[in-house]
Amino acid sequence: MNIFNCQNCGQLIFFENVKCVRCQHTLGYLPDIGLLSALGPVGEGRWQALAPEAGDRLYKMCRNYSDENVCNWMLRADDSASLCLACSYNQTIPDLSSPQNRAYWQRLEAAKRRLIYGLLQLGLPPVSKRDDPERGLAFAFMGEANPEFRESNAVMTGHANGLITINIAEADDVVREKMRLQMNEVYRTVLGHFRHESGHYYWELLIRSSDLLTPFRKLFGDERADYDKALQRHYSEGPPADWQQHFVSAYASAHPWEDWAESWAQYLHIVDTLETARNFSLQVKTPEGVAGEFTAMLAGADDYRPSSFKAMMESWLPLAYAINNINRSMGQPDMYPFVLAPKAVEKMEFVHQVISQSAQQAEQTPPPRAAAGS
Ligand SMILES: [Zn+2]
Ligand SMILES: [Zn+2]
Ligand SMILES: [Zn+2]
Repeated sequence: MNIFNCQNCGQLIFFENVKCVRCQHTLGYLPDIGLLSALGPVGEGRWQALAPEAGDRLYKMCRNYSDENVCNWMLRADDSASLCLACSYNQTIPDLSSPQNRAYWQRLEAAKRRLIYGLLQLGLPPVSKRDDPERGLAFAFMGEANPEFRESNAVMTGHANGLITINIAEADDVVREKMRLQMNEVYRTVLGHFRHESGHYYWELLIRSSDLLTPFRKLFGDERADYDKALQRHYSEGPPADWQQHFVSAYASAHPWEDWAESWAQYLHIVDTLETARNFSLQVKTPEGVAGEFTAMLAGADDYRPSSFKAMMESWLPLAYAINNINRSMGQPDMYPFVLAPKAVEKMEFVHQVISQSAQQAEQTPPPRAAAGS
């Protein structure tokens, strides 16, 4: 994630913020230029961005920002849409008759915006299902009205034909942590769900009908294996004893699709966390020297996408090790609780190649609404 400063007072501001804590300026994220900016009202719901990069363009708040307070993204004042790019993918939102659901929705939206940010930065702007019902992306945030049903799995978090469904109970820390322990997982977060499910979506888009399918099967296995049976087996028998030598997580061993989605999510985690580290100029000393030549490592086509997978991993491992130790000093769980076997790294490298190839192809075709910023 990029780091942002209030254009009015210089205060460090976070991606999720709606107001500068120092000067009280209203803030909004401008997806057309990829910046969080302080805003000045110019009347009739229109705003001028203080970020010089925005020039004299006028913006309006996403309706989920102005009316619902669950978003902080802006769109151009002359855009006929009322929802921002990130909210344009929403197909179903939680039932807001329950105040608790609104709090869950807020958490889901915050994680979703981080996912969308990352996808845009990687050169993978998803098309909304509204614009392309067949190949587009949409989200459904669903929960059971009755709290007793929350853990019943009646709403399954998952992906089908471009629709990512998230059980809103995943935004409840107690429910999610209980689930994590039950499933014996080292990592379960709302953002992790979004990144994982987006992996399924991009598999359909980038691999299913492409010449990448053969190398995919060679590395991950044959995805034509019965999916439901594979999951049933995973839940009844657990992962194979030696899963750590082949997979990034136990769940990845359930089926090649899950292995791909887990590897994809890992890649997104690492690329985004490295961007944050680089923006804070973090460096980690190792016996071999200074790891974290993040600037050199990322001197690729843009500032986000790693130009070299090898350099990315050489920066990542010492950084993860250092931050895990910092977290332990605070009595917190490890920031990065995964152990990466060479086979798991190889799968992530495949993800890297798929993303790099797709981003290069996208650069040669006209940008969708996201990049055009209309
Ligand atoms: Zn400020
Ligand atoms: Zn929005
Ligand atoms: Zn999955």
